[in-house]
Amino acid sequence: MALIVQKYGGTSVGTPERIKNVARRVLETQREGHQVVAVVSAMSGVTDGLIKLAREISTDPSEAEMDVLLATGEQQTIALTAMAINALGGKGASVTGAQAGIQTDGVHTKARIANISPQHVHDLLDSGHVVIVAGFQGQTSGGRITTLGRGGSDLTAIARAAALKADLCQIFTDVDGVYTCDPRVVPDARRIPVISYEEMLEMASSGSKVMQSRSVEFAKKFGVKFEVRNSMNANPGTLVTEEDMSMESVVIRGVSIERDQAKITIRGVPDQPGNASQIFMALAAAHLNIDMIVQNVGLDGKANISFTLHKNDLAKATSTLNPVLAALPGVLLSADDGIAKLSAVGIGMRSHSGVAAHMFEALGRAGINIQMITTSEIKISVTVDQDVIAEAARVVHKSFKLNESFITT
Ligand code: ADP
Ligand code: ASP
Ligand code: MG
Repeated sequence: MALIVQKYGGTSVGTPERIKNVARRVLETQREGHQVVAVVSAMSGVTDGLIKLAREISTDPSEAEMDVLLATGEQQTIALTAMAINALGGKGASVTGAQAGIQTDGVHTKARIANISPQHVHDLLDSGHVVIVAGFQGQTSGGRITTLGRGGSDLTAIARAAALKADLCQIFTDVDGVYTCDPRVVPDARRIPVISYEEMLEMASSGSKVMQSRSVEFAKKFGVKFEVRNSMNANPGTLVTEEDMSMESVVIRGVSIERDQAKITIRGVPDQPGNASQIFMALAAAHLNIDMIVQNVGLDGKANISFTLHKNDLAKATSTLNPVLAALPGVLLSADDGIAKLSAVGIGMRSHSGVAAHMFEALGRAGINIQMITTSEIKISVTVDQDVIAEAARVVHKSFKLNESFITT
């Protein structure tokens, strides 16, 4: 008998029929002789709807109250799923994050899991129940409801699997697994059978939102092997696991895109110690998340600094920077909120040269202008005009033959 944690995302529980499908699937797994914990998300659209509702009440709702509100989405699904299981003759028990012993820090809307007490869930499993856990939510030590950031049910499932020492963790979603690129953007993208934690993490954090990036970080840290599969069929999925020797032979594992980015350029910054720090300290103090940063030093002792951030943060960033820049004579700020980021990811990059050149050449041949470039050991990212991002993804995907077979040179 194995202990299996399964997670069903918003689309997979998006209608009463789909909740019944989940109930059938978990019962089937139990009837095969296993103990099953099912982590469920809010029905698709529910979390977004709740956020919209809150904004109609207040332009600046408290994050603690947002958590109380958002947690209701998952709470609906656990009850409905347990009802569906019971209607099929099974024994379903619904538990909220708090009842499931998920304790977090107090950073509302993006809380971190501090501890999981597994006993209550073990007791329910031992008495023959399928346990349905509300994803995305936890509770502080002081008893306040928290949520784990968008897509956070993935984290609930991975952390739950670690705490219960589960034999298997399965993330069920609306595609067959992790693909070489979002199949909605690149229709001939292929399912990746096996991917390393590191590649999955880089893909997730550069826009492949099939997995929440914090959940992959957690899985890597605690060695939780997991698979991503389709809740509507029995097709094989993607196994996410430790890197092994054979993985390095693949240069590019996948391509990610991130839309809705903005770029700020500050021209003519005196090239002296302390100026970059003043700029970025001010942005950090305003809790703004900065992504790519590029600085060029001109011959006349002036530097140009460009950086990207989410376009929703652009207005706040400019108003934060205006007073800082006013103290630096001759400095000019310009902004562009129509950009997007494209990243190519693969651990094979460590041992292969010419990968960036190959990618830039493909974009150049397609007439796509590259604005900014950053690289890490296993990732190359560029920003391009938002209007050409889908084409750029298709071009880069094809140039690395990801629609055919992996490059193994
Ligand atoms: P869930 O509600 O199950 O958590 P998500 O919407 O969060 O599902 O994630 C699944 C979606 O992620 C897919 O429908 C797909 O459009 C998108 N996606 C983005 N990048 C990838 C990728 N590389 N592979 C697979 N799906 C991807
Ligand atoms: N319902 C939450 C969201 O939409 C959590 C999740 O689906 O994983 O972000
Ligand atoms: Mg998701």
